[in-house]
Parts: sequence; structure tokens; C-alpha cells
Amino acid sequence: MTFLEPVEGELRLEGMPLAEIARRFGTPCYVYSRAAIEAAFRDFDEGLGALDHLVCYAVKASSNLAILDVLARLGAGFDIVSGGELARVLAAGGRADRVIFSGVGKTEAEMRLALEAGIKCFNVESEPELERLESVAAALGRRAPVALRINPDVDARTHPYISTGMAGNKFGIPHARARGAYQHAARLPHLEVVGIGCHIGSQILETAPLDEALERVLELATALAADGISLRHIDVGGGLGIRYRDEEAPDIRAYCARLAARLAGRREQVLLEPGRAIAGAAGLLLTRVEYLKLDKAKRFAVVDASMSELLRPALYESWHPIVPVGTGAARESARYDVVGPVCESSDVHGLDRELAVAPGDLLAILAAGAYGMAMSSNYNSRPRPCEVLVDRGAALEVRARETPESLFALERRLPTR
Ligand SMILES: *Cc1c(COP(=O)(O)O)cnc(C)c1O
Repeated sequence: MTFLEPVEGELRLEGMPLAEIARRFGTPCYVYSRAAIEAAFRDFDEGLGALDHLVCYAVKASSNLAILDVLARLGAGFDIVSGGELARVLAAGGRADRVIFSGVGKTEAEMRLALEAGIKCFNVESEPELERLESVAAALGRRAPVALRINPDVDARTHPYISTGMAGNKFGIPHARARGAYQHAARLPHLEVVGIGCHIGSQILETAPLDEALERVLELATALAADGISLRHIDVGGGLGIRYRDEEAPDIRAYCARLAARLAGRREQVLLEPGRAIAGAAGLLLTRVEYLKLDKAKRFAVVDASMSELLRPALYESWHPIVPVGTGAARESARYDVVGPVCESSDVHGLDRELAVAPGDLLAILAAGAYGMAMSSNYNSRPRPCEVLVDRGAALEVRARETPESLFALERRLPTR
């Protein structure tokens, strides 16, 4: 995160001391840099240059209204996977005609909402979904714009839980059936075939599988043209990885420049669906050390953030940098397992980390801007943390910390006898 730097013995984000954010808003607390989000978006948007394109931010990566607002102001489109995300995008000032709707399980109610809002495209993931969309659109007297999400059967070479483009995944329509599905879609009167897409996985570090998937999609587009089906857009998906530890993450500008060169001269608009690559490096989770605990052979730093706030390490054994916020104070350095207070042994933020800390110190868990707050839960009846956006040196609370009462506000005790 280039907007994070140590200044006079303490970490600052866009010039704002993290310790001051902790003082004002408490911990645990998610903190995002507006400048970092904007810079990441521009890497895509400017990287594609003059190519007709729309960068559709994958809302599920980090969906706070302020983050969507920042991106909407830059002209972003949005890739959504639920009616809830559509509502968020519209509430944040996003344009419906820049929304594409992905996901294998769209309900009739979600389809209706999206049709009424006038979204840009439904990314249809199965033949039965085509039938359902046809009937929902017919009932509303509308035509639904559709693209088929193709499963190109390429190995994204990422974690199996976040690989989505291989035969046997639940995602997309198998490459071999795509042409037939398009011919069928083209015959349905309330569908309008407008595009083709794919998305092969997440945290992808090598671009070769992305290139391979694109070639398969382009081949199909050529075959479809021969069948008389012309497309308005080609959606290359998202999934580009970021550096958490020592990974060589793809250079976004270089990737986009290659895309632009490969697709130059085509008539179709090019869509991208990045999530992590836009929000991931732009956010961190601020937490305080509650206890240092010594076991026979192990030292634990027990912090006030848990797997309820940041699930990725527990879910994927993912590695996040963990750094002290105050870098000046004299502390003895030791190796700690940094753990949370939740009653699960998987509630670990990092194993065996060399840290110079004392109880009461602040730690920043970095690269937590994507799939952090978005995957948080209330497990152990923990109120979700607040979210703070740093915007040119000012800290704005963009989501208040939940209260314990809010956690059971929708619950009811038994009726009185
Ligand atoms: C999750 C998802 C994305 C974004 O993935 P990232 O790895 O965050 O870039 C894009 N498109 C679809 C269909 C998704 O499900």
C-alpha cells in the first residue's frame, strides 16, 4: 500500500496517523484509502487507453457505499451477484446501465429488480437460467440483455476455493455447449443477446490462464458471428491477484496494455470485473493487542480483531502482513501467533510473526481491503467493526460500529403466555 508510510515513529495512511483513527473510532476498525482505491481503478481504466471499455468493479470484494461512491464518480461500472448488491450500487449513486449481474443462483425477484432498474446485462450461467429470465422478462413486457458466462475449462492455478473456470466448477456454461445455448437464447423473444464473458477465478498471479480463457472466448465470438449472432461486448472477467506476502502480482497497466493490443480493432466493448485488485491493497484492519500470552513453546498475541471480522486466514489459510502502528517505542521482539478472541482454533491472523509489541499496542493487518469486511460475520455475537475512509488527510466514518442490541434487533422472544 503506497499510501501507507511510517512518519516520526508511527504509521500514517495518506498522512493520517492510524493511532488517531483508533483513538477517534476505536478498534477493531477497517480503514481504507480513497487515493489507493482511485489509483487502482485508474490503473485499469487508463491502462486500457483508447479501447472502448468499462471497468465493472466486483462489488462483493468490498461493498461499503462510500467505496462504491468513489468508484461511481470515476465512471466505473459494477459487477453484482445479488439483489442486495444492486440496491447498494443504486444507493451509492452508481448507474444501473453500467451494472452487470453475475451469479449462478439469481432468483426471480432479483431478476425483476434488475430488469426494472434497467441494468446493462445479465451474465447468465446456465440454460435453466435463460428460461427463467425469459419468463420473468415476458411477464414484465421487457427484453433482458444477456451475455453467457462461459466456463472455458482453464486452470487459473489459484486456491481451489477461488478457482471458477474449470470443468466441474459450478460456474458458467461449459465451453462445448455455449454455441447451442446462444442459438437457443437468440430464439427467445424476451432476451437480447448482447455479450459473452468468463471469469476463471480469484487471486490469479499468472496471466497465462487469463490469456488462454480470452482466446477461447474470442474463438466462440467468431463462431457465433458465423451463426449470425453479433455481440456488443466481451467481458474478460476479474480475478487479478495482489501481493499479500511475496507474490509477484501481475502489473495491472501492463496486463491492460496487452489486452488493449490483443483486442484493438474489434467492434465490441471490452468489460473487466476486477474486485480484489481495486480494493485489496487499499484497506487495512486496525486492531489492538489485548494480551501477550505465553504457552510452553509458543507466544500468543491476542488481539481484539477475530475471524469474525477478517475470515480469510481461517478460510483459505491466507497470509496478511501484520505490522505495529507505533514503530518508535522500545519493545522486545519475539515470535508470536497473532490470534483473535473467538472460540475456534482457526481464529488466527498470522502464525509465527516476529513482532515487537506490548499489550495495548496497535497493529495493522494489511491488504485487507477486499473480502475483509465483506466476508465478516457476527459470530460470537461480535458487532461488526466500523469502517473509516481516509480522504486527503481527513478520516470519515463511513460505517458505524454495530451495537450489541443491533445484533438481535430482528429477533423475538416467545410470545407471552
Ligand atoms: C468475485 C468475482 C469477480 C471479482 O473477483 P476478484 O478476484 O476480486 O477480482 C469478478 N467476477 C465475478 C463473476 C465474480 O464472481
